[in-house]
This record gives sequence, C-alpha cells and structure tokens, in this order.
Amino acid sequence: MINSKTKIFYHAVQQAGDGIFIADKKGIIKYVNPAFEKITGYSSREAIGKNPRIIKSGKHDFLFYENLWKTISSGKTFRGQIINRKKNGKLFYADHTITPVKDKEGKINFYVGIWKDISAQKEIEKRKDEFISIASHELRTPLTSIKAYIQILKEKMKKNDNLKLNSYLIRTYKQISKMANLIYDLLDVNRIQAGKLPIRKTAFNFSQLLNECISDLRLGSSVKIEYKSKKKQFPVIADRERLEQVIKNIIGNADKFSDKNKKIIVKMQSVDNAIQVSVRDFGIGIARDEQHKIFQRYYQVEQNKTGSGTSFGIGLYLAREIIKMHQGKIWVESKLNKGSIFYIQLPLNK
Ligand code: ADP
Repeated sequence: MINSKTKIFYHAVQQAGDGIFIADKKGIIKYVNPAFEKITGYSSREAIGKNPRIIKSGKHDFLFYENLWKTISSGKTFRGQIINRKKNGKLFYADHTITPVKDKEGKINFYVGIWKDISAQKEIEKRKDEFISIASHELRTPLTSIKAYIQILKEKMKKNDNLKLNSYLIRTYKQISKMANLIYDLLDVNRIQAGKLPIRKTAFNFSQLLNECISDLRLGSSVKIEYKSKKKQFPVIADRERLEQVIKNIIGNADKFSDKNKKIIVKMQSVDNAIQVSVRDFGIGIARDEQHKIFQRYYQVEQNKTGSGTSFGIGLYLAREIIKMHQGKIWVESKLNKGSIFYIQLPLNK
C-alpha cells in the first residue's frame, strides 16, 4: 500500500523539471521520469531494462566513463557535464549528477541520476565564442599597424628633445602593446578550441630561455626576482615562443599579485625525467576552492581582480593547454594571504 508520503515523492519526481533516472547496481535503468523522456526522446518503456549506454554520444573517452564508474561505485557522487545523444541522433549537453543510494549498512542499492539540460546555455556560449573570435580577428590588423606607426614615431622622436612628447609616446606604445597581447591571447583561445593552435617544436636549452625571460621581466617589474638553478643544461624539444609566453604569464602574475616590497623566487631542477620550474610569490594567495578554477578560461578570482582592464583570466588557461601539448603538467599550491607556488613540469629530451 503506497502511503501519502511516498505518493508526494512519486509525484515530485514525476513532475520534476530535470531528467531523473534510477538504475540498479549493475547500471540497468529501472525508472525514468517524463522530463528524461522529453530530453532523450526515449519513452519510459524503451529506456527501462537498458543500460544508460543507449544515450552515449561517443564524445567522451574511455577514461571519462572509467572515472565516472570508479567514483559512483566507491560510494561518491559524480558531478560533471556530459554530452549525450538523443534517440533522434542529436547531441545534448547535460549538467549531470549520479549518486549511489545506500542502505543502512552502507551497501549501494541503486543509483539516481539527475540531468539538467544545458544545451541552450551551451549554444549561447558558442555564439559568444564566435563573436570573440570575429572581433579579435578584425581588431588584430588595425592594432598591429597602429603599433608599428607608434614604434616609428618613437624612433623619430628620439632625436627630438621634447621630453613630454617622448614620454607620451612611450606610454601609448606600452598600452597598445598590452592591448595587442590581449587580442593575440583571445585569438589563441579560439585556436585551442578549434584544435588549431600551431606548436612549432625545436631543440633548445630551457635554462637559457628561463634566463632570458627573467632578464626581460626584471626590466618591467618592481618586485625582486630571485633565480636559482643547480644545473645549466636542460635540453628540451619544445615550442620556444609558447613556453616563453607561459613563463612570462606565471612570473607576471606573481608580480601582479604581490606587494612591491616582496620578492619572487624562481627555481629550476630536474625531477625524474622532467624539468621542474617553480615560481613562488609572497602575495595575496588563492583560496583552496578557487585553485582549480583559475586554469579555466575567463576565470578570475573575484577578490583578486586588479582592475587594470587588460586581464581577462585567459593566461593560465592558455598556459595549461600549451603545457598539455608538451605532455607536461602545471599546478599550484597556495595559501590565502601567504602566497602561491606555481609548478611546471616538462619532459626532458635525453
Ligand atoms: P589574468 O591574470 O589575466 O586575470 P590568468 O589566467 O593569468 O589571468 O589568472 C587567472 C586568475 O588567477 C587571476 O585573475 C587571479 O585571480 C588568479 N591568480 C593567478 N596567479 C596568481 C598569483 N600568483 N597570486 C594570486 N592570484 C593569482
């Protein structure tokens, strides 16, 4: 006999706006609600008795599903965004949680999955990306020529002794360069998303690159940069320009988020078959729950915003993608108000 409480739960789940399914320990679907039927196109009769594999899109690799199963079969909730396929073949994006439901002894009895269809939101994101892509393409050419003309003016003005005009030009050039770098970064983000960021690998000594980067950064930084390395030779086969971009972004951030009287310590050492570079600052630090988010594109920690108007939260996203393309690793250890250490590991070319 169904009591009134059970009835309430049943109606709530039946009428919920998000897709809900219940599967047994083996993953066989036992129940789906009408929102599930609507999102997937599979009726309850078609879905029950099947494995959720019926809506698999083929857009995630084996490791993704292995991680999902490992998480839920160990008793934890899986959260993530999944691309699924409807019965009619169309893809849809879902914000997904799968939670194991346990008995009193803690044994898993069944799983409950909840899907929020976020396809519309994804479509908006796609359009926003397209807009950024077109805008940055269009801005690149005029900006590059303005930069070149100011460079010429700067050279010509060197012979002129009007100090004020000279300083205006230098400042203009600096601001234009910042803007141009921002546009190039936005273009890189788009290339990465399209899987078209070119990587041009050559053989070089990483130690020399790090030295050059630090010399360049010392020129524009008010913070003291200390550099320690036990060895002089770190041969790699990599994209020199891209790695320069990564290092300058990380040390640049350490500078941006530190007090002027604090220092930055850069260290380089070999660890197993890899080079490890660490950049330590004693600045504002990053809260634990923000640490994994800073590598996402356009993400900035709210409290850490500098208000300079020329940062968008894409430097670390690009850094992570570039390091991934070199089969390396990048991560951060940080304490709020104490400082951060960013690490990069790259395979050594032995
Ligand atoms: P940007 O610096 O242009 O905002 P990034 O992708 O380089 O973009 O960094 C993303 C965010 O991570 C920054 O906005 C800041 O909130 C945080 N962050 C990065 N490096 C540090 C650091 N050394 N100390 C504190 N916060 C940092």
